[in-house]
Amino acid sequence: MGDPIALFCPSCGERSDADFIQNLCPCGSPLLVEYNLDLVRSTLKKQDLAGRPADMWRYWELLPVRDRRNLVTLGEGWTPVLPLERMGQELGLQRLTLKDEGLNPTGTFKARGAAVGVSRAKELGISRVAMPTAGNAGGAWAGYCARGGIELTVVMPEDTPEMNKIEAHAYGARVYLVKGLISDAGRIVGRGVAQHGWFDASTLKEPYRIEGKKTLGLEIAEQFEWDLPEAILYPAGGGVGLIGMWKAFDELEAIGWIGPRRPKLIAVQAEGCAPIVRAFEGGHMSSEFWAGATTVASGLRVPKALGDFLVLRAIAETGGSAVAVSDAAILAAVQQVARIEGLFICPEGAATVAAVPALLRTGVLRSQDRVVILNTGSGLKYPQTIRASFPVLDADGAIGSG
Ligand SMILES: *Cc1c(COP(=O)(O)O)cnc(C)c1O
Ligand SMILES: [Zn+2]
Repeated sequence: MGDPIALFCPSCGERSDADFIQNLCPCGSPLLVEYNLDLVRSTLKKQDLAGRPADMWRYWELLPVRDRRNLVTLGEGWTPVLPLERMGQELGLQRLTLKDEGLNPTGTFKARGAAVGVSRAKELGISRVAMPTAGNAGGAWAGYCARGGIELTVVMPEDTPEMNKIEAHAYGARVYLVKGLISDAGRIVGRGVAQHGWFDASTLKEPYRIEGKKTLGLEIAEQFEWDLPEAILYPAGGGVGLIGMWKAFDELEAIGWIGPRRPKLIAVQAEGCAPIVRAFEGGHMSSEFWAGATTVASGLRVPKALGDFLVLRAIAETGGSAVAVSDAAILAAVQQVARIEGLFICPEGAATVAAVPALLRTGVLRSQDRVVILNTGSGLKYPQTIRASFPVLDADGAIGSG
């Protein structure tokens, strides 16, 4: 059984009851889930995991759902870590691997957050949820809400990839488009929450999706046999997965499964929307709103993240870094990885590949490091990233005359 004993505020230290429906701390900070890790340490052994299902719920004791009957699952997690030998040679990394989150239900790692967020919403008796989304979170939450019998309203930028609109609609969510960015969508959801009594599941205003994304770190630790890699490259929008992995490693150390060494956590953003990178380079511990955000990697189009200070803290504490790459480099990396590794990755995942040369140049990465890049979603959700035209044949096989 998962046993969330409290929610705590990483800004002001306030603690509160996990069994009340909550959003932000009164001080404005996101809330994080606390467990009785001493109890987990004395009752759970690594070898207990061996017989468990190959999904992210194998870490049940470190997840916040109390009663298995509230579980809303589509088989998310336990995605493969694949060696990228040829791509590593091209880039100058001897031990490059890719964790392929494109294999998750709904095609992205947003499934992890949605599975936990929706399960916990069900457990707390929430029946109507609303959220702003850059695209994939809306799709994932729509799928899990459909399965959990929860009503969902999503608001997304009008120019969100078509597939994200269609999938959310297919799962029965109410979909609104806004002439603006995810930050504008967030304000509209805020008004709807006040008017209609919806539960606000905006990124990090909801304390549980980070617990789902935390399983990325738990899985990487187990897949590396509890000897963590030297670096993890993460395409950061709101940065939830990066904060989640950082929390995962702290919890694993608290239960005695790993030591104090951490992988460098590296946030990769797009040049057209890089508030975390700008803050990191300026030595600041929070970011400024990024005006005019634009990038093909739609999941990275978050002009100001609520958890920016936690992302920057995680980077600083692990000796990590933050770098931005161009859209042209992202699109080139999508093609290159597809052609030499047989993996059609999403533009966000491709951004991490494109960041490698700069990270080697600055010495953040060394050629012998074990480096994990997170491909956060399937390229199949982004048909617009590949331009192609094909010769058309007549029915008898001759090249058509037009
Ligand atoms: C949402 C998303 C991201 C960024 O995730 P954050 O938790 O917001 O940092 C990266 N890649 C894809 C495919 C996404 O959908
Ligand atoms: Zn607080």
